Amino acid sequence: MRTISCESIAQSPDFRPLSSIANIRVDLRYASTNNFMGRDMYSPLDCAWLHVEAARGLEMARDWLATQRRDVVLCVLDALRPHRVQIAMWDALEEDLRQYLAPPERGSIHSYGMAVDVTLLDASGDELDMGSGFDEMSETSHPEHESAFLKTGDLRSEHLANRHLLRDAMKRGGFHGIATEWWHFDCGDRDRVRREFARVA
Ligand SMILES: [Zn+2]
Repeated sequence: MRTISCESIAQSPDFRPLSSIANIRVDLRYASTNNFMGRDMYSPLDCAWLHVEAARGLEMARDWLATQRRDVVLCVLDALRPHRVQIAMWDALEEDLRQYLAPPERGSIHSYGMAVDVTLLDASGDELDMGSGFDEMSETSHPEHESAFLKTGDLRSEHLANRHLLRDAMKRGGFHGIATEWWHFDCGDRDRVRREFARVA
């Protein structure tokens, strides 16, 4: 496996800073204390980066969204997550919550800069209501259970409409969602990423 250290990605042509993507918002929760661990997991590392392919995909998602809703913007909650941070997060998580994290031996697509956690903001900068919060480790966060929770009333049609808008936009950029987190998207084929891309250590 090829690896690159997080400290050297700024010199690599394979990565782009999130600041180079116009008209999106960035609120990296793991670079703050506003996350499920209550501490900054990234400092002093600069993790506001994506692989160039994912950055381009995010621009395509942004452009499509602008044709649908001029009052709504993409907001990036997590992007590049160096593998060393993935390990620290795994060690900090209770065993029953580890289903929400890729185990260190397998690693995360985030560590290649090819996955992104993202939500939508309205014109006032408030998050659209997705029915559960970012990193809320409950079944209502699972896209696979959305229709069941719509029937029980735990999710409303407004929540599903917001999630669909997010998924439709990300799909335009070549991203795929996963079964357990409405906010997480992988860019392209994960097996290809694991095979061909350098992982950020
Ligand atoms: Zn994610």
